[in-house]
Amino acid sequence: SAQKNCPLDKDELGLSTWNFLHTMAAYYPSTPTVEQKNDMKLFFHLLAKFYPCTSCAKDLMEQLKTSSPETDSQYKLSQWLCRMHNEVNKKLGKPEFNCKLVDERWLSGWADGSCD
Ligand code: FAD
Repeated sequence: SAQKNCPLDKDELGLSTWNFLHTMAAYYPSTPTVEQKNDMKLFFHLLAKFYPCTSCAKDLMEQLKTSSPETDSQYKLSQWLCRMHNEVNKKLGKPEFNCKLVDERWLSGWADGSCD
C-alpha cells in the first residue's frame, strides 16, 4: 500500500468507501423528497450487490436485512450509517466511534478549529 497506482486491498477500499459514504450522508438533504428517500435506500442495496469485497458485501447485505437505511433526513442517514460502520468496527475489533460526533467528523469539522 506504500506503492502507488496499485489495485486496492480490502483496507484501502474500505477507507476510501467510508470516506465517500459518510461524506455523502453528511450532504444528504435535511428534508429529502420521496424520490430521494427511495433512491438512497436503493443506493445502499445496490452497493451491497456490487461492493468489490465478497465477504464484506455478504455481511452488508445481512446488515441491511435487519437495519434498513434510514433516509428521512441527513441526521437520520448519518446516524444510521454510523451504526452500520460501528457494526463493522466491532466485527474487526476496532474501537467504536461516538455517533454524536459524526457531523463534526464529516461535515463541520471539530469544535476546536483543527480542521479550519
Ligand atoms: P475505517 O474503518 O475505514 O474508518 C475510516 C474513518 O472513519 C476512521 O478513521 C474514523 O475517523 C471514521 N469512523 C470510524 N468509525 C466510524 C463510524 N461508526 N461512523 C462514522 N465515522 C467513523 N473489512 C474487513 O476486513 N472485513 C469486512 O467484512 C469489511 N466490511 C466492510 C463493509 C463495508 C460496507 C465497508 C465500506 C468496509 C468494510 N471493511 C471490511 C473495511 C473496514 O471497515 C475498514 O475500512 C478497513 O479495515 C480500514 O480501516 P481504517 O482503520 O482505515 O478505518
